[in-house]
Amino acid sequence: MAIPVRKFDAVIVGAGGAGLRAALQLSEAGLKTAVLSKVFPTRSHTVAAQGGVSASLGNSEPDHWHWHMYDTVKGSDWLGDQDAIEFMCREAPNVVVELEHFGMPFDRNADGSIYQRPFGGHMSNFGEKPVRRACAAADRTGHAMLHALYQRNVRANTQFFVEWMALDLVRDAEGNVQGVVAMEMETSEIYVFQAKATLFATGGAGRIFASSTNAFINTGDGLGMAARAGIPLEDMEFWQFHPTGVAGAGVLITEGVRGEGGILRNAQGERFMERYAPNAKDLASRDVVSRAMVTEINEGRGCGPNKDHVLLDITHLDPEVIMSKLPGIREISIKFAGVDPIKAPIPVVPTCHYQMGGIPTNYKGEVVVDGNTVQGFYAAGEVACASVHGANRLGTNSLLDLLVFGKSSGNSMIDYIKAAPKDLPELHTADVERSVARVERLNTQKNGSNVHEARSAMQRTMQAHCGVFRFKDMLAQGVEKILEVEKLVKTTEIADKSKTFNTARIEALELENLIEVAKATMISANARTESRGAHVRDDAADTPENPNGRDDQNWLKHTLWHRDGNRLDYKPVNLKPLTVETIALKTRSY
Ligand SMILES: Cc1cc2nc3c(=O)[nH]c(=O)nc-3n(C[C@H](O)[C@H](O)[C@H](O)COP(=O)(O)OP(=O)(O)OC[C@H]3O[C@@H](n4cnc5c(N)ncnc54)[C@H](O)[C@@H]3O)c2cc1C
Repeated sequence: MAIPVRKFDAVIVGAGGAGLRAALQLSEAGLKTAVLSKVFPTRSHTVAAQGGVSASLGNSEPDHWHWHMYDTVKGSDWLGDQDAIEFMCREAPNVVVELEHFGMPFDRNADGSIYQRPFGGHMSNFGEKPVRRACAAADRTGHAMLHALYQRNVRANTQFFVEWMALDLVRDAEGNVQGVVAMEMETSEIYVFQAKATLFATGGAGRIFASSTNAFINTGDGLGMAARAGIPLEDMEFWQFHPTGVAGAGVLITEGVRGEGGILRNAQGERFMERYAPNAKDLASRDVVSRAMVTEINEGRGCGPNKDHVLLDITHLDPEVIMSKLPGIREISIKFAGVDPIKAPIPVVPTCHYQMGGIPTNYKGEVVVDGNTVQGFYAAGEVACASVHGANRLGTNSLLDLLVFGKSSGNSMIDYIKAAPKDLPELHTADVERSVARVERLNTQKNGSNVHEARSAMQRTMQAHCGVFRFKDMLAQGVEKILEVEKLVKTTEIADKSKTFNTARIEALELENLIEVAKATMISANARTESRGAHVRDDAADTPENPNGRDDQNWLKHTLWHRDGNRLDYKPVNLKPLTVETIALKTRSY
């Protein structure tokens, strides 16, 4: 088989915050590092992050990493691994200051220190009151961060392969990872990228849902590739619905708006969050706010002619604050909702935003299956499950996750590459052949299904059967429906078989990844019969022992979905931090 092979020390799939942070570590250590991306690096979804990156710098008021750790464990509804959470929260001030030194243009306080705003679920003193922990560059924090990281990588001579799509993972007979098969999108030519260490930093998969804040490229490619290569996916039932997507459009309005004083109101003008979260109010964590909004709408207190959304009100804020701290939001409101938020409230609804689950890793970014690390394989960022976000992520903890675990996986890869034999081993071609056959199937399929129709069937099914609130019968039907959709995905046909920038082929290949994510999500959600964090089931018993329907006796464990036979197994949550005491289980309220 004459597939050309390119050789590197490290290959990184994904040029968002996680991929770029890891690449920087490797390139600065003098290693030959390739970064593949479907789009130009600075167009990765990280660029869309608005609100901020968390770190207990305490620039405006006292703060401590241990409080941050407590909030993150509580936010995760105790499903997060406490070793990884401690690691992340302790590292936060270091990686944020490091980013500042890389040239990140943070907003400033009068004394020159980094500006910080309050964000949902981030509190002082173990849950007392909202604290300013989100370090922000206006409402374009991800944009500023991605550009700073990209420029540092250019300086460090990272080799970028822009508009290259990784198709499949390559493993040898022992299961060690040897690199990836990838397609140059301009020519549709297929290559192997062989390396001593491979990192997946492919971001999220929000496009499994019909309404999402995610970019069109967020199609879960890393998850699809991992699943096809026999790696299980962890905690895929947990998806975050962001409370404030623009109604009808899905575009995100950052939680930073509520951090700056924005208030949610129902059709009666009532600040309804006071009833659901008397302490944190509009700054309760995202799952709590989303459910409150859906409850208001379901009980007839929604706004607009169809009573199908609520309002986010900042008309009481000083227009100066809106213009300087939230300029992007004002622009989005005017463009997508036809509303100038200085004068009128913004119509909003909960929209799919973030996947808490992913490829199982430890806090060093190593992929772990059955208690063993998969040699040569790493994952970081939204595609990975370390697991720091557990059943629900706190806002601003994702950008932090990219920095902390991008860096730690980069460091793990450096150690691994330095200890590996100088020459790359012989390439094991079975996975390469399978990958080529997958593309070939698309080129020869006759009487097949339509990619667009199959994708929208999947998105409608996920939206209707696996949304903010989940119901036993709907989930069971959802599993059947998704398995039906999978049959369509297996026989997709593309009319255009040309080779130059053929987006039809790319979309068909992306759909093969999305469907793996959709199956993992639906099957895991159907199995977990409790309510925890973002996964809330109507049939979960709400008893004194199991307040809010959480069932620690049976379900304080991570789900692992295996593609092979749609099998599920489980592993315990790590309740033991690295140095401090366990944050003990409690009922979660805000
Ligand atoms: C609108 C929005 C606002 C947000 N705001 C915040 C916020 O304020 N604070 C916060 O903490 N979090 C926020 N988040 C979440 C956070 O931005 C994301 O979780 C995070 O940026 C993901 O980064 P990543 O590096 O994992 O992936 P991404 O930035 O999504 O990058 C993925 C990369 O992988 C590449 N890729 C994917 N598949 C392939 C393939 N097959 N072959 C080659 N390359 C591939 C892509 O081209 C891209 O370069 C927000 C998310 C959204 C959607």
